[in-house]
Amino acid sequence: MKVIDLHCDALTKLARFENANFRNDSRIYSNYERLKGGNVKVQVFAIFIHPSIPKEQKFKEVLRQIQAFHKFVLSEPGMVHIKDWNQIDELEDGQIGAVLSLEGCDAIDDDIEKLKVILDAGVKIVGLTWNYENKVGYGASEDSTKGIKPFGKKVIELLNERDIIIDVAHLNERGFYDLIPLAKKVIASHCNSRTLCDHPRNLTDEQVKMLVEKGGRIHVVFYPPLIEKEKETTTIEKLVEHIKYLSHLVGAENVGFGSDFDGMDPLSVHHLSNASEFPNIIDRLRKEFTKEEVKLFSEAGFVNYVKQFA
Ligand SMILES: [Zn+2]
Repeated sequence: MKVIDLHCDALTKLARFENANFRNDSRIYSNYERLKGGNVKVQVFAIFIHPSIPKEQKFKEVLRQIQAFHKFVLSEPGMVHIKDWNQIDELEDGQIGAVLSLEGCDAIDDDIEKLKVILDAGVKIVGLTWNYENKVGYGASEDSTKGIKPFGKKVIELLNERDIIIDVAHLNERGFYDLIPLAKKVIASHCNSRTLCDHPRNLTDEQVKMLVEKGGRIHVVFYPPLIEKEKETTTIEKLVEHIKYLSHLVGAENVGFGSDFDGMDPLSVHHLSNASEFPNIIDRLRKEFTKEEVKLFSEAGFVNYVKQFA
């Protein structure tokens, strides 16, 4: 069964590692051979700027990661840059769609022109914050009662104009509630259920329902502390509990995968530590769900979602 994965951090490694190679570099958990091995059909590659990167270098680092996407990712045979959601339907056997996303607007500071440059590079999904405060709003590690800032509203306007999907992963609670009525398209690219694992990065039942009512969906993350509270490793069974819970809450058609491979080393789920191990979770899901439901989780739910606005 084919897989669509809404989040990996391979670009941060490709831009930073010496002698990086995307094809089979064992340090990269979502490398080309592993994506092939895991039957990945579409992989979203996040541009992520670590908070330790000095303010004046952040935008330059965005450009480096976009360059790495072209130099390493798109140069492998059959990799297709998805700039238009229609292209997913046109992928042939052996091709892998590659989507760019931006994980937080920290690198643009308060300069909307910088965001335009990033969107012009073909970015399709944008998160407003990472875990901390920026000029747009407050991340999941900040005060949960502080909302989207005036500049954030300008950012949301531009994202709506450009038909960008706005990602609520890493946004704090007040920011989420401020965003929902303002956003055209929303998604949670890598979040789990807060009812099962109480962590500010996970979404409450109310948030998940509101997200889906708005036309969005939730993609579960494989980061152990977001699956089981304060755990550094966990099992596929525990992750499947989140998928079960969320699909009962909002329907199997609104739940998918957002692995976070390359964004959580050295932590990982047992037998689900890199993209080649996707078949392990598919096999486990087949014991609990119908084939149609498993297909919705693994690819069809997202394909149907983007079809609405293709
Ligand atoms: Zn993340």
